[in-house]
Amino acid sequence: MLLIGTMNWSSTRLKGVFHCPHCDANQNFRLKATRPFLTLYFIPVIPIGGLQEFVECQSCREAFESIVLANHMLPSDTPAGGGDSAYKSSEPTFGHDLLHVIALMMVEDGHVTEGEIDVAQRIFEKMTDQALSRDQLGNACSQVQQHRLSILSFLATSASRRTHEEKLLMLQAMFAVASADGQVTDGRMQGILTAQAELEIEPQEFEGAINATDQWLK
Ligand SMILES: [Zn+2]
Repeated sequence: MLLIGTMNWSSTRLKGVFHCPHCDANQNFRLKATRPFLTLYFIPVIPIGGLQEFVECQSCREAFESIVLANHMLPSDTPAGGGDSAYKSSEPTFGHDLLHVIALMMVEDGHVTEGEIDVAQRIFEKMTDQALSRDQLGNACSQVQQHRLSILSFLATSASRRTHEEKLLMLQAMFAVASADGQVTDGRMQGILTAQAELEIEPQEFEGAINATDQWLK
């Protein structure tokens, strides 16, 4: 019997101090790069994707997109443990962030259905006026998995760059994908509530937004 699987080869490319959005304090980080390999009897044989970079906080161990360094990296002589503010730089678009929360919701339960793909494409296209191919969606799903992003760690770095209206759209998109096949599972509901807290949306407004999600799917 052939034993075939995949594994991630990981290496550290940069160390330093950044403002960890999860700890809300200055912490040591490592910028890590992983490359997925196809394995045969647990031996990596063929690389099956490009290098993927992510930033790991050495205190809470949360993983963040590498963009976090553009916004939160501190001069190399900054001691870890403080609570100072961050650097600024160019910011990802609403479409980028919307696609990420959709992908995070899709992979939450470990598998992706046709119903979810259909809803994800429709709601993304209506909210951004841009087409979303299956490939783009699939790439986003494998990226959030390879970066080990969670809803919490992603929104910790991206919430502050989105307007209030965009935050409500992101919540609606998450809910639409989560409910694409009917019942919303506990794990996904937990993810949506994490997003509500991280995006700082009041309960009443949250409920209104969730109830209005259907308008995007008509
Ligand atoms: Zn941290």
